[in-house]
Amino acid sequence: MCMADKFPESLPGFQKMFPDDAACAQYLESIRWRDSFQCPKCNVTAEPFRFAARPHQLRCKGCQKDTSLIAGTVMERTHTPLSVWFWAAYLVASLTPSMSAVQLQRQLGLTRYETAFQILHKLRSGMATTSGRIGVKTHVEIDETWVGGETRGKGKGSHNMTCVIGAVEVKQRKVERVKDEHDKRKPRRGGRYAGRLRLAVVPDRTAKTLQGFVEGNVDPATEMAVTDAWSGYSGLARAGYQHLAVAERGEPNVAEDYLPIVHLIFSNLKAWLNGVHHGVSPDHLQAYLNEFVFRFNRRFYPFNAFRSLLGLSVGAEGPTYAELYDGDWQHPITTDGSVGC
Ligand SMILES: [Zn+2]
Repeated sequence: MCMADKFPESLPGFQKMFPDDAACAQYLESIRWRDSFQCPKCNVTAEPFRFAARPHQLRCKGCQKDTSLIAGTVMERTHTPLSVWFWAAYLVASLTPSMSAVQLQRQLGLTRYETAFQILHKLRSGMATTSGRIGVKTHVEIDETWVGGETRGKGKGSHNMTCVIGAVEVKQRKVERVKDEHDKRKPRRGGRYAGRLRLAVVPDRTAKTLQGFVEGNVDPATEMAVTDAWSGYSGLARAGYQHLAVAERGEPNVAEDYLPIVHLIFSNLKAWLNGVHHGVSPDHLQAYLNEFVFRFNRRFYPFNAFRSLLGLSVGAEGPTYAELYDGDWQHPITTDGSVGC
C-alpha cells in the first residue's frame, strides 16, 4: 500500500485521506510495514488483531503481544486521538505558519487549551532537530543581518537589534530553461537557486563567533564559501575552506552579484517575522529561526514536514529541484511538491 504519493493540497483533501483514527492508524502501519504487518516480537507475518477503541495498537496472532504504532513518535503516551494529531500536524506543516495554541484549539474544536498547547509544543520540538553540515558539492553563501530594532513608539534605531548569521547552499541550473520570451521561468539571479539553509542568533560579529558558526554548519568540502570581506571571515581559508571574500565597498550591485540568495532569504525572513509575528523578542528568536529553516528546507516536501512533525521520520530535509523553484520562495511553504514513497 502506498498512501504517501501526494500531500493533500486542501483541507477537504486531507480529510478524505484521513477521515478517522482508523485511517490514521492504517497510514502509520503502511509506512512501517510496506506489505503486511510483521510482529517485531516474534517475527510472524500475519494479519494482526485490531481494536476499534485502540486503533494505534496491533496484537500479534502468533505471540499475542501488542505493538504500538505510535511508539517513538511525538504521539507516544498521549490520549489525544490520532486524527487530532494528524490534523494539527497538517495545519502546522502546510497552512498556517506560526499558528497559536488558541487558533489550533479553535480549528480542531478542542475543549481544553492545554491540549492544543501541548500538541503544538510537541510538534514544534520536531522543528529544532536540524543537524549536519551543508554545502558538499555546492557553493555556500554566508552573511549576517540585523533583526528586530523597530520598537513601536521609539522610532527606528538599534533597539533590541539581534545579529543573525545565515548559510545557504547555492546551486546552479545546468540548462537554461528559456523556451520563448513568454516563458515565465527565465532564470533569475543567474540561474542560481537555494538548497538547504542554516540560521543562528549570534552574540557578536567576531571571528571566533562567525567562524565557529561556519565550522559547525558548513562542510569544509564545500566548493566555495562566499562571504563579504568582513574580517570575521578572514580565517576560513586557514581553517580549510575554499573561501571567496567579496569586497562590497558600499556598492549594492556587488552584493547582489555575489550574495543574492542569502540576501533574498534574509528579506523573506524579516518579512515573515514582522508580518506574522509582529516582531519577535530576542529571547525567542532562535526558535522562530528554527521554524523558518524547518519550513524552508522542506518547502517542496510538505509530506516530509508533516511526517517530521509527527516524529515519523528523521533527517527528512528534502533536496531541492531547480525545476520546482523560481527563486522567489515565500512563506508559507508551497504545497505543489510531492514526494514518492
Ligand atoms: Zn508476535
